[in-house]
Amino acid sequence: MSAAPPLGVADSLTREAIEHWLRETDETRLQELWAAADETRRRYVGDAVHLRGLVEISNYCVRGCTYCGIRAGNRGVERYRIPEDVLLECAHKTVEFGYGTLVLQSGEDYGITGEWMTRALRRIRSETAVSAITLSLGERPDEELAAWREAGADRYLLRFETSDESLYRRIHPDLPGRVSDRMSILRRLQELGYEAGTGIMVGIPGQTYASIADDIEIFRGMDMDMIGIGPYLPHPATPLGQEFARRTAEGDWPDDQAANTELATCRVLALTRLARPDSNLPATTALSLADKAGGRVHGLQRGGNVVMPNVTPPEQRELYEIYPEKAAVHETAEAVNAGIRQLLASLGRTVGAGAGGRGAA
Ligand code: SAM
Repeated sequence: MSAAPPLGVADSLTREAIEHWLRETDETRLQELWAAADETRRRYVGDAVHLRGLVEISNYCVRGCTYCGIRAGNRGVERYRIPEDVLLECAHKTVEFGYGTLVLQSGEDYGITGEWMTRALRRIRSETAVSAITLSLGERPDEELAAWREAGADRYLLRFETSDESLYRRIHPDLPGRVSDRMSILRRLQELGYEAGTGIMVGIPGQTYASIADDIEIFRGMDMDMIGIGPYLPHPATPLGQEFARRTAEGDWPDDQAANTELATCRVLALTRLARPDSNLPATTALSLADKAGGRVHGLQRGGNVVMPNVTPPEQRELYEIYPEKAAVHETAEAVNAGIRQLLASLGRTVGAGAGGRGAA
């Protein structure tokens, strides 16, 4: 094998190096990548790990994303929307646990109306001491995004999932009469004064390493405050999950297919840390599921500086199954909190204070 191209930070990391390192399998060489990502993380964002309390407020969804277990077409899902008072209890719990940010995530659910969300945000702001509120509610109309910002939301997460346009169209069908353009929504969110976050899945059937190199180049040019990177985890009750199973059974994978493993995801995470040294990068739940023993630790040692402990009440949490076997489904929010603090202490990392916006090392 030819010599590995050098690892640079920000603009000195070349496209050639990114592509090379995405395919690197030699364990000794990979240690260089992990060490460079960890050192860059320490230098630019410090040892603090920011904890964000995640509440999955609804599993209704109008979309037909072929990868996602809560897609509209999955009739096997029992649907729920969290009542306002339960949401407030979750917000109080987030403060009690000392998490700097409350993250509200859901399917694209218009049963959560603009007004409902605005009222809930105002109540969270006036009745709790939550430092920052992040929303991740899908491709909602401009007026709602503006109203929610006004009502107290600080950040919005919307992954572009893959920059391969034809793959994106295949896995994320448009709603009738509305072309999905997540890049323009992200720009709009920034104009509205949100801190914006994006991200991708790694190992989507049909996704190549070359296209992931494009994704990382886009991260480099995009000025996002947060970038979430997780492996694609096949859900058996989805069209893409079924395609994944068939391709695996038949060995029918395209050339240069990116793997959806923990290792492949860590390579993307580490390279993203080098390309965007000051971003907030979570050690995602999906990564911790791809390797239950090491995923979260590796995520934190290979570029990550954020963890999103789940504070959704267990009865709703087990119905929010975007991929199978979610971590900690049977654990209480208290147990998750204790486990994460213990893990961080064992890694010599501290818990971030305050809201943990970008550059808050
Ligand atoms: N509806 C909102 C949206 O689409 O942005 C927020 C919720 S959505 C379930 C959050 C993220 O889950 C998606 O951006 C996607 O990357 C991830 N996701 C969904 N299904 C997945 C799967 N099978 N494997 C890995 N990640 C998945």
